[in-house]
Amino acid sequence: MKYTILIPVLFLSFYTLSVAQNPFEDSEAIGKYTAGCVLNPRQLPVDGFGYQVIRTSRNRYYGHKELIQFTERLSTKVRSNYSAKLLIADITKRNGGPMLDDHSSHQTGLDIDILYLKKGNGNNQYLSISEREHLSPKSLLNNSKTDVNPNKWSWINGEVLKIAANDKSVDRIFVNPAIKKDLCDKYKKEDWLQKLRPWWGHDGHFHVRIKCPEGDNKCISSPALPDGTGCGSDLNWWFSKKARDEHYKKKLSSPKKKEEVKLPKECLEIL
Ligand SMILES: [Zn+2]
Repeated sequence: MKYTILIPVLFLSFYTLSVAQNPFEDSEAIGKYTAGCVLNPRQLPVDGFGYQVIRTSRNRYYGHKELIQFTERLSTKVRSNYSAKLLIADITKRNGGPMLDDHSSHQTGLDIDILYLKKGNGNNQYLSISEREHLSPKSLLNNSKTDVNPNKWSWINGEVLKIAANDKSVDRIFVNPAIKKDLCDKYKKEDWLQKLRPWWGHDGHFHVRIKCPEGDNKCISSPALPDGTGCGSDLNWWFSKKARDEHYKKKLSSPKKKEEVKLPKECLEIL
């Protein structure tokens, strides 16, 4: 009698371990950031030194081993230097793949969304899992979205982004154009600003993308970054009428359907 219970339990635990994460094998990112998956992902523990995962019921806290290690490096520095804890939103589902409700990327376990810190003293508080469940990124910009809101925006965010951008594994970080503008003013011509890429939204959270890890031969890199800090005319374009019109048009066009994302065959086998 005992064995009939034990065998399925053993099988289930082995199955869960082998599909979710095998600590003896390296993770592997396959395909594009917008059409791919991740083999042997690691789960980011929901609490760590310097971070807390929010909305854990979404089950999107899996990532490539190198992304998990980056997250731990970044949050350790943030906690040690600024006594703050980062709030971690989506990474990817177990094994990655499309999540077309919110993201076109986040498919290979190499992208992570992190909330900006708010001005004030609340950034070090422990939040219960249920408190975190109802948290979502809120804009820290002014009403016209042309600048950060000085009553909400913490200066520590500049330092967090600087630490992240200077991490060798990081490919680029998506931030709202108004946030990039603020940091271009404060940090002037510092090289790391090149990695901050302006994109719509991203005013309550930033999105870090790490590079294709060495040896992941089926991982397809993003196009190289343009030279320079990107603080000049390229950035000004985002505040033009042309940019706003383009954005409006994009919003009207329907989002891609799941079937339209062409996944590599290795991904079709595991998703
Ligand atoms: Zn993102």
